[in-house]
Amino acid sequence: MSCRHALSQMPLLRLCWLDFGSFAGYFHMSRYEPLGICIYCGETELPDDVPRFGDEHIIPLALGGNLILPEASCKTCEATINRLIETPISSQEWGYFRSKHNFPTRNKRRRKTHVTLKKYDGGPLQVPIRDYPSPVPLYLLSEARILSGRAASIDPLSWTMKVLTEDRSETEMRAKYPEWDGGHQVKIRVHEFARLIAKIGYGYAVAELGYGAFRPIANDIILGRSDDLFELVGGSFDLEAPIDGGDHLLNIDALFVRAGIALVIVRIRLFSAMNTPIYHAIVGEINLYCPSHRAAFEKHRANGRMKNISPWRS
Ligand SMILES: [Zn+2]
Repeated sequence: MSCRHALSQMPLLRLCWLDFGSFAGYFHMSRYEPLGICIYCGETELPDDVPRFGDEHIIPLALGGNLILPEASCKTCEATINRLIETPISSQEWGYFRSKHNFPTRNKRRRKTHVTLKKYDGGPLQVPIRDYPSPVPLYLLSEARILSGRAASIDPLSWTMKVLTEDRSETEMRAKYPEWDGGHQVKIRVHEFARLIAKIGYGYAVAELGYGAFRPIANDIILGRSDDLFELVGGSFDLEAPIDGGDHLLNIDALFVRAGIALVIVRIRLFSAMNTPIYHAIVGEINLYCPSHRAAFEKHRANGRMKNISPWRS
């Protein structure tokens, strides 16, 4: 068992008390131009019985994502991403939270209505979701290794976590269910979450910069062909101040690592109305000696879609 794997069995748990507020503003959809290609495997041909490529929700619909890149994934990649990322995160990890806050779902009948907790005497305690604080894990990631230069074997501390729960709802539940032992059920899916950050970053970079504007480098992580997640996915152990009414936030930077070669870095803050951290995913490489990369780079430097273009710090 590697050090990193051993660490993932023993996360550092701390509670963070928050008021989740309202998520009403999250569900206004915006769509990019249809692509007609699978952005993950590059497939351009459709089987006879499939009329069009699938739409990509850049941030999953289940988390209130409102950006859609139409006709951008094939059935095979879609199935892989659902199995590796969307199902574990949306239904398993965020399931109670989503049910309680009425997040969008493709299958209303699968909404959870009750949670089974434990009493002090060890017996089961059934609690309706409306009474449950519905805690969710909040992962804090260290800086991606491609940026920090840290070797995986030297520093295995790639992540830690906090549990987000609601102060008011927690207090009310203790009063209403005095037999409750105070424990929560939280499933830890940090590796799936890191793949999710890579998927969000890559989808957003393709949507904003264009397919062919850079060489994709995170697709092996997204499609489960690489488990070296923290080479390209990272974040900060610091939490940002909440933004009143804040949505999910996304930003693209280009970082030059040598002459003519830049990394495409997407910075991602989910649920900015809460004390969430900023993640980053390094999803591509721009090579200015490649004419299509150079043309896209010049265009987006002018239109401001790459917010920060910076040289490598030495
Ligand atoms: Zn594909």
